[in-house]
Amino acid sequence: VSANRRIAVIGGGASGALASLHCWRQAGDSVDIVVIDPSPHLGHGRAYSTKDTEYLLNVPVGNMSAFPDDPSDFERWVIQFDPEIRNSRYWPYLPRKYFGAYLESHLNKIPERRLLHVRSRVASVSTRYGSYCLTLENQSTIEADDLIVATGYRHSMPSSPALNSSKHVIQASALEVMGPEEISGRVLIVGSGLTAIDVWKRLRKCQKVKDFTFISRRGLVPLTHDAHIASHAELPSFQNKTPLQILKLARDLKERLPVSWPEIAHKIRSEANDIWQNWHGHHKAQFLQHLKPYWEILRHRMPGAISEELSFDIQSQRAKILSGRILQIQSDSYGAVIEIRHRKSHQFERLRADWIVMATGSVIDQTLFNESYVQGIECCPYGFGYLNNDAPNLWLIGPASKSRLWEITAIPDIRIQAVQIAQQLTLLRDYKIAHHENI
Ligand SMILES: Cc1cc2nc3c(=O)[nH]c(=O)nc-3n(C[C@H](O)[C@H](O)[C@H](O)COP(=O)(O)OP(=O)(O)OC[C@H]3O[C@@H](n4cnc5c(N)ncnc54)[C@H](O)[C@@H]3O)c2cc1C
Repeated sequence: VSANRRIAVIGGGASGALASLHCWRQAGDSVDIVVIDPSPHLGHGRAYSTKDTEYLLNVPVGNMSAFPDDPSDFERWVIQFDPEIRNSRYWPYLPRKYFGAYLESHLNKIPERRLLHVRSRVASVSTRYGSYCLTLENQSTIEADDLIVATGYRHSMPSSPALNSSKHVIQASALEVMGPEEISGRVLIVGSGLTAIDVWKRLRKCQKVKDFTFISRRGLVPLTHDAHIASHAELPSFQNKTPLQILKLARDLKERLPVSWPEIAHKIRSEANDIWQNWHGHHKAQFLQHLKPYWEILRHRMPGAISEELSFDIQSQRAKILSGRILQIQSDSYGAVIEIRHRKSHQFERLRADWIVMATGSVIDQTLFNESYVQGIECCPYGFGYLNNDAPNLWLIGPASKSRLWEITAIPDIRIQAVQIAQQLTLLRDYKIAHHENI
């Protein structure tokens, strides 16, 4: 039996993998890491478990290294894996599946005696004599000194009963299992963010798909990465401002200075975690209700080559984007009839579709601490994972920590968080060893 501190990591997606990797890097042989995740492969999770090369990363390869101190690590790995990749039309945006394989290859370097993958789901967490006790689905238990919660996203469900009841409705994630060749005719994509773009990109090569209609409340589509033209203008701080003050300042800067919206977003992004933490509840609610959709298209942009393909499909009338609301769906033997109300004109329209694909994005999972009580941990009232008020030796990482850290869902942010957790864990362990030796 090892006398090491045991770190339990709940969730083995990209966040759990990065946390495990950095804990191992910092603490080496002095820790035992147990990752609990039902998936067969660690490091893939929701974003990177696809096998389809059509799904691309929306961050260039040079920003996707697992190691902030070695930014070209992923690029070197991927070129060794596939030397032709640089000639891809989409370079430097790579297929997402490579990133999962990359993280997994790093985890495979950790000796088996130090990293154990338990293929199960944690049903509940409790504390016992200063350590954490995890009960798995089969009722077996795992004890750990430290706990890292990396539970990420859950699959989004149809948001209205009309969508729920139709047999023509599928989730975007189901396309992976179905295979695109099963889809034909007219496709209605619910959503117009990056998930919706993924769906369209995957299906657009199918000859049997006649056309695409995207529908979302505002009809907003992600901007392109290439729209970022650096003006090097000195931008003022957006901290200590309400959502409306931020909007006003941003509009004012756009009018006065030769800056692009992505540049302004870049500045806000660098301060986003402080801004979010300083807002009162009603400011957060105001932002989520009115401004979040605009923020998302600036913040999560698509590669230029994909944007060009979308423009081509729109010009050739194979794709169109609507803003409005779905009121009802009726099925008949030819497919589905969808009644919508347009946002601006309030006019009603009936559309026909053979398939309706739900692509409204990812919802952060809050099941674990809804179902178990650990003092100091609470669920975020806005649906952004958990808040750790004062639970000792417990860390939240990635989307699970978005309640406090707004900008924590992309790999460049998660990898820094993983390094910080590993540092804190190592300090804690060193302190305990020193303290124990003094006694
Ligand atoms: C479609 C998509 C594309 C993205 N593309 C990019 C990109 O190009 N670049 C970028 O920087 N970021 C991207 N992101 C964002 C980022 O990579 C993700 O936020 C990140 O991968 C989150 O990983 P995670 O491990 O926290 O969550 P997830 O990937 O959701 O993984 C969570 C894991 O936890 C497990 N789990 C959950 N509950 C339990 C439990 N109770 N017991 C055991 N296991 C549990 C699940 O099985 C799952 O494997 C993308 C996100 C999505 C959804």
